[in-house]
Amino acid sequence: MPTQPTHIQHIVIAGGGTAGWMAAAALAKLLGTAWRITLIESEEIGTVGVGEATIPLINIYNNALELDENLFMRETAATFKLGIEFVNWGRQGDRYIHGFGPLGPDIGLTKFHHYWLKMRALGQADDLDAYSINNAAAKANKFIRAQRDMGNSPLAEIAHAYHFDAGLYAAFLRRYAEKLGVVRLEGKISGATTRPEDGFVDAVVMEGGRRIEGDLFIDCTGFRGLLIEQALHTGYDDWSHWLPADRAWAVPCESVNPLTPYTRSTARTAGWQWRIPLQHRTGNGHVFSSKFIGEQDAADVLMQNLDGAPLADPRMLKFVTGKRKQLWNKNVVAVGLASGFMEPLESTSIHLIQNTIARLTTFFPYRKFDAADIAEFNRQSDFEFERIRDFIILHYKATERDDTAFWNYVRTMPIPDTLQHKFDLFRSNGRVFRENGELFSEISWVEVFLGQRVMPEAYHPLVDTLPEAKIADFLKSVRHTIARCVDAMPTHAEFVAQHCATD
Ligand code: FAD
Repeated sequence: MPTQPTHIQHIVIAGGGTAGWMAAAALAKLLGTAWRITLIESEEIGTVGVGEATIPLINIYNNALELDENLFMRETAATFKLGIEFVNWGRQGDRYIHGFGPLGPDIGLTKFHHYWLKMRALGQADDLDAYSINNAAAKANKFIRAQRDMGNSPLAEIAHAYHFDAGLYAAFLRRYAEKLGVVRLEGKISGATTRPEDGFVDAVVMEGGRRIEGDLFIDCTGFRGLLIEQALHTGYDDWSHWLPADRAWAVPCESVNPLTPYTRSTARTAGWQWRIPLQHRTGNGHVFSSKFIGEQDAADVLMQNLDGAPLADPRMLKFVTGKRKQLWNKNVVAVGLASGFMEPLESTSIHLIQNTIARLTTFFPYRKFDAADIAEFNRQSDFEFERIRDFIILHYKATERDDTAFWNYVRTMPIPDTLQHKFDLFRSNGRVFRENGELFSEISWVEVFLGQRVMPEAYHPLVDTLPEAKIADFLKSVRHTIARCVDAMPTHAEFVAQHCATD
């Protein structure tokens, strides 16, 4: 029988980027002082230095830490995010928003978008954005926090996330975690040793030979995966045949007006460009596939399409889209880039960090590492990654663009069966179903399908049970109510200045 620790007492976190410090802060808060937590990071190696856009579920993480929102925003130079604007994705010149909030209220017997589909075909419905409080506010550069006490008003349902400076966020969480007793060690890890009897990691070894022994190791060392891959050889599922982007140039620029409450993603010839407004600068980057465009040409595309002067030279990052074969292997759990990477098109990486930590707390090992727990943890993680992967692939596959080799490739590539199933259901009757544990809601799928010009052949037959005039009146009243709410909101810049501006 392999020997295993009788008590899991010492947690060693290797790496101190967003993943390492999010893990340290959350575990210190949730576990209290009964476990020792040590985090090792190297200033010389540094962090990946990108990762600024989030989704609303980050509020679950921040609330678990009992962070004050205004303080957190000041400390991280954050702005509010209501959704993502996609430009040139379905066709050149197209523009749509994938917002975080609800889409119309449901009337009658089926979902809002079925009524919209009917009336749109009759020329009696506005753009979809007009029926979403998040999307309409984003288009007007307006923002207010959800007014939860306002009953049925759209103002009660605004959902927001943030754009923040990832370096400041990690520093903020470091201060938080250290106050709760997390011990930080500075230095480079040269490797790890494993127990001969079962291959479990027993220590990380620092340059110079110091050994840091532990029971549970959390690998947050970024793409290199020092423990999960270099020590345990876990393996990687490469998804680059579906998500062929493998490089990104990133460059910070000075802020420009207006302060937009959304991320922008603009499709380019062999990838796409992000624009993320923070309080003190605008983050810009170009994600591209080096099979379809040269590195220098990709840098030129970025530098020729900036609004705001660059504050530094562009920096290039390389990656392989995919997922570690097991996020939890023996006594090592991979979090963050060490666990895998899907391109940042829907801002899902920080969310995956948070959910992997939450899942680890659900399956937290006490006396031993249980094979059934680990298998279930990995099964749930695989499901989560794969469904996010499908949603990201959707943006590429559902395009009419045929102007470059890149777009021809992604438009015609085979896709996972799970995504094909969603396409088939939506194309025929506009139906979408969210399985338990999937991150993206039906509304997200509907907004992206329609935004990318995937029009269903039919809407739900129950729509026809309501008279057209009644549906038209209903749509008009939803649109007017949302427009009135948006009119009454402050601008995003005003709201930030009043509540959470950096000094
Ligand atoms: P890193 O930031 O790479 O941190 C690794 C840590 O390990 C560092 O502290 C490093 O010093 C340490 N380390 C490594 N090797 C050693 C060693 N030998 N010894 C000691 N310490 C070591 N996510 C989002 O949610 N939204 C976004 O908008 C977004 N945009 C992105 C854009 C790009 C181009 C890329 C590549 C990623 C983006 N991400 C985004 C992902 C996001 O950046 C990461 O999920 C997040 O930063 C977490 O990174 P990490 O902490 O896992 O790794």
